[in-house]
Amino acid sequence: MTAELAINTGAESVMPTVLMLLLGLAVSTLAAYVALDLARRVRVLRTRAGALWLFGAASALAIGIWSSQVIGIAAEPPPFAFGYHGLGSLGVWAAALVASLAGLGAVSGRVATPGRVSFGAFALGIGAVGTHALALAPLGLVPGVEWQILPLVAAFAGAVGGCMMALGAFFRGGDRTKPATLGWQATSALVFGVSLVASQQLVLGAAGLADQTGSVHADRLASATLVLLASVGSCAILIVGLLFSVLEARLRLSLRRAETELQRRSFRDGLTGLPNRLMFDGMLAQAVQQADGAHQRLAILFIDLDGFKPVNESLGHATGDLVLREVAARLKRFARPEDRVAHLGGDEYLMLIGADPSAEDAAIFSERLQTSIGEPCRMNGREATVSSSIGIAIYPEHGPISALIANAEAAMRSAKSGGGAGYAFFEQRMTNGARDQLDLLRDLRRALSDGQLHLVYQPKIHAPSGEITGAEALMRWEHPTRGMVGPDQFIPIAERFGLIGAMGNWLIEEACRQAGVWRDQGLQMRVAINLSAHQLRHPDLADRIDMALRRHDIKPQLLTCEITESVAMDDASNAIRMVERLNQLGVNISIDDFGTGYSSLSYLRKLRAGELKIDKSFVLDLETSADARAVVDGIVKLAHAIGLKVVAEGVETEAQHQILRSFGCHELQGFLFARPMSPRALSAWAMEDVGPRALEFRDSLYRATAAGALH
Ligand code: C2E
Ligand code: CA
Ligand code: CA
Repeated sequence: MTAELAINTGAESVMPTVLMLLLGLAVSTLAAYVALDLARRVRVLRTRAGALWLFGAASALAIGIWSSQVIGIAAEPPPFAFGYHGLGSLGVWAAALVASLAGLGAVSGRVATPGRVSFGAFALGIGAVGTHALALAPLGLVPGVEWQILPLVAAFAGAVGGCMMALGAFFRGGDRTKPATLGWQATSALVFGVSLVASQQLVLGAAGLADQTGSVHADRLASATLVLLASVGSCAILIVGLLFSVLEARLRLSLRRAETELQRRSFRDGLTGLPNRLMFDGMLAQAVQQADGAHQRLAILFIDLDGFKPVNESLGHATGDLVLREVAARLKRFARPEDRVAHLGGDEYLMLIGADPSAEDAAIFSERLQTSIGEPCRMNGREATVSSSIGIAIYPEHGPISALIANAEAAMRSAKSGGGAGYAFFEQRMTNGARDQLDLLRDLRRALSDGQLHLVYQPKIHAPSGEITGAEALMRWEHPTRGMVGPDQFIPIAERFGLIGAMGNWLIEEACRQAGVWRDQGLQMRVAINLSAHQLRHPDLADRIDMALRRHDIKPQLLTCEITESVAMDDASNAIRMVERLNQLGVNISIDDFGTGYSSLSYLRKLRAGELKIDKSFVLDLETSADARAVVDGIVKLAHAIGLKVVAEGVETEAQHQILRSFGCHELQGFLFARPMSPRALSAWAMEDVGPRALEFRDSLYRATAAGALH
């Protein structure tokens, strides 16, 4: 495909030589800058991503080498009409690409040892001078070039030296392993540019152009066309490459930020910055180990504020938050280096007293703490005073590590029931709260057989269109004497005492049955169910779901299984296996409460879920916390990058709704749209259009009730 194009003119010679040389310098400097920018994205050369980045970098540099030749020849054109052989010119570009691959490949994604830098500079130098010389071939000069050796050697030495300096500057900015700063990168690119243009001029000198009398390709690809391509075309390609590289770097940075923030959040409480329960557990385990070794004791203080709720309600949540922060600061001030403080959430704190405290020490410590907490908090011209109740458990007297915090809590409750503003040591009789749990357990056993459990459904909204596309099933227990008991109360008991298996089976069956009822009414709802850790460990799970789907003739694609992130993380290999089996069935997998567990992004990739559900605690903070916005934005970007759908739960305000939409969340769920409702209420909404809000059900949810379609 030789482009039989326009006739050559000497038009480009109108432009003064110096200007043309400067143009060549600009293009080759830009090319080198882009090449370095792409090359620094190579992390590991022997991966596909690494190879692609290197290829991009080498292509950019090859564009630079080639452009500097075309523009350089046009800067001082021979005194006769000349043109290029198109294919030959492409061949020169390919040769430049090979040299660039070798040169950049030597130093990309590795530690830049002097040996590698020298090899790289050598390859680039030979490549540059070689292709500068080759570049004369597509001109088809007559009678033909006779090379003068000395200028050629000088060109080669200059090119290698220049490339060596350029690579040196690039790695000087970093420390051989880290990428250079942008200033050093620009310096390095300029040195590359200068050495490309200079060596090209030396090569032209060595070729003795003055002795030539004509070009056999005078009527082929015009020099002016190529110069245009080499300047405007090259710059356009290079700028696109640079933009791409910069965008990729930004995305990577925001992902990294999100990951660190997620990690920080999984160990710290967002409000006070104190360690959370998870981190406290770790610190306690360590302290117990040390105490065992030294035959020492420890004290755990469970601190709960008295009368915090009225403060929160009368002065507002923002002031309530300030009080919680102030208390955290006072506890921190009180803690000695061997003590630890944590915030459990709400108005509950934990403190670990080290250094072998006696019961009396712990008591005195608690009294002092209470005095400090009891001093008025002044904020924004207002004043709030709270007292506190403290429960104390001493290790090892008051139980093994697994029971310490619960026992300290039981002691706190006892202090509170004594009127508050006091402290109490743990005593065995205080675990009567456990008796209450045993009562619940006894009732729960009956609940299943007596039909006291039922499911309510909370709609999921497609964010861009605002249409209802499905619903999440949530369990409710209508207790004969206590009234409605929430899942947060009874699911943990069911899990602890082995009832969750039977309840989970009932849930699967019931959700599929309901989906069948809706289908018969002409409504093809997508239904999501929550799976507990216990269910996930059960090898029967996938078969059970399969059977329920078949029994009620529900398409697997209509069912989503939500698995809490921490559960998926705790038992990783098992979770991966189970998710694999569920995927084979064709049901969807969603990672629930995302952001609350130990998030490992690489593990997420392995777990082949289709959806992430951002925990409502992040959504709650969206309006007030830039951190929360950064995390959610990062999570959404991450999810898009690895091809996951993102759902946000707990959307309560219009402002949260708008922020989440602008981030590109796929689906939303929350009280703003609809609270969990009975299946009948949901049908009424879909069929008769009587719902809490003016939302439409997606058209495709309505089944065409064609003859024979009814089951
Ligand atoms: P989850 O899976 O994270 O469910 C979302 C919870 O957030 C539900 O509480 C829902 O009513 C509530 N919610 C929804 N929108 C909003 C909102 O805008 N603001 C606020 N503040 N809350 C909102 P619910 O029904 O009390 O469920 C609590 C948890 O109990 C669920 O959390 C889930 O982990 C568990 N659970 C519920 N049903 C089942 C079940 O059938 N099986 C299992 N294994 N767990 C269940
Ligand atoms: Ca859920
Ligand atoms: Ca959740």
